[in-house]
Amino acid sequence: IGVTLFNNNKGGADEVLKQADIAMYEAKKSGRNTLQFFDPQMQAEISAHVQLEKDLRIALQQQQFQLYYQIQVNADGNAVGAEALIRWNHPEQGLVSPFKFIPLAEESGLIIPLGQWILETACAQLQAWQQDARYQHLTISINISARQFHQPDFTEAVLAVIGEYTIDPHRLKLELTESILLNDIEDTIAKMNRLKQANVLFYLDDFGTGYSSLQYLRRLPLYQLKIDQSFTRDIVQDKNDEVIVRTIIAMAHSLELGVIAEGVETREQQQALLKMGCFNYQGYFFGKPVPIDQFEQSLNSAQD
Ligand code: C2E
Ligand code: MG
Ligand code: MG
Repeated sequence: IGVTLFNNNKGGADEVLKQADIAMYEAKKSGRNTLQFFDPQMQAEISAHVQLEKDLRIALQQQQFQLYYQIQVNADGNAVGAEALIRWNHPEQGLVSPFKFIPLAEESGLIIPLGQWILETACAQLQAWQQDARYQHLTISINISARQFHQPDFTEAVLAVIGEYTIDPHRLKLELTESILLNDIEDTIAKMNRLKQANVLFYLDDFGTGYSSLQYLRRLPLYQLKIDQSFTRDIVQDKNDEVIVRTIIAMAHSLELGVIAEGVETREQQQALLKMGCFNYQGYFFGKPVPIDQFEQSLNSAQD
């Protein structure tokens, strides 16, 4: 039930009904079988949401997006690749966090054209690197959202872009999260296998925060587990996090998977991970996500 009050309502019957409707949807969202009073804040949130979705459409047309690159290193401190992370440069709001607009893009379906743009931009970058001895060895990983992955033509779309840019598929890595496993696991495994046959490898991102069943984990053709930054953060101080990370690494080893830790911010964290047998890292300690020019510059200055 959604409830709103008549007093001082200047918008007439339509407005009253609209408010009651908004309140009812809030009630549904909080688990149904309940009632909610209308609160102007609810309307403000919906308006902001609708506006941001409109802006997102415009952003796609006007190319307000940019990929930033964050370095990934091995135990010797050498760059092995980069994760591409999207940035939205909103004309009024400045940089909007992907945590805010990716869910919106998923909800509205805009993630499909956006995901395609991300894939093409990353492949174009790999193509450029292929011509340059300084960067040829580097990989780029991109984040794939569940809705994008579950598109019936997802595998074909990826393979088409790889072909179009004539890149070595081994250099492209796809980051999936455990949320992908929530529906149609057989289809997921089939798609991953098809891409793996074409030499495209997978990371399981934010590992340890979802609901991976070990049964499925064993069946997924994964390349590396990516230890979530929430565990890396307190690995030095918090015994529980240390135990979790140790367990993830041991599990990765016994499943013959690689393992990379994200959110590494200090030398102590890196050393602790190294001792536990994790030899790949990503985090502010090695570099923040930056535009491509800056990324290449920092690689070059590291070599000098
Ligand atoms: P993610 O894929 O797990 O990316 C890691 C996030 O951690 C990034 O946030 C990165 O900037 C941040 N990070 C990296 N190193 C450190 C560190 O040392 N300390 C801390 N505190 N944070 C660190 P960002 O760029 O804001 O992205 C957030 C999330 O948005 C990503 O999480 C990913 O799920 C999603 N996302 C970003 N780009 C894309 C994209 O191109 N496509 C899709 N589908 N999702 C994306
Ligand atoms: Mg990621
Ligand atoms: Mg992550």
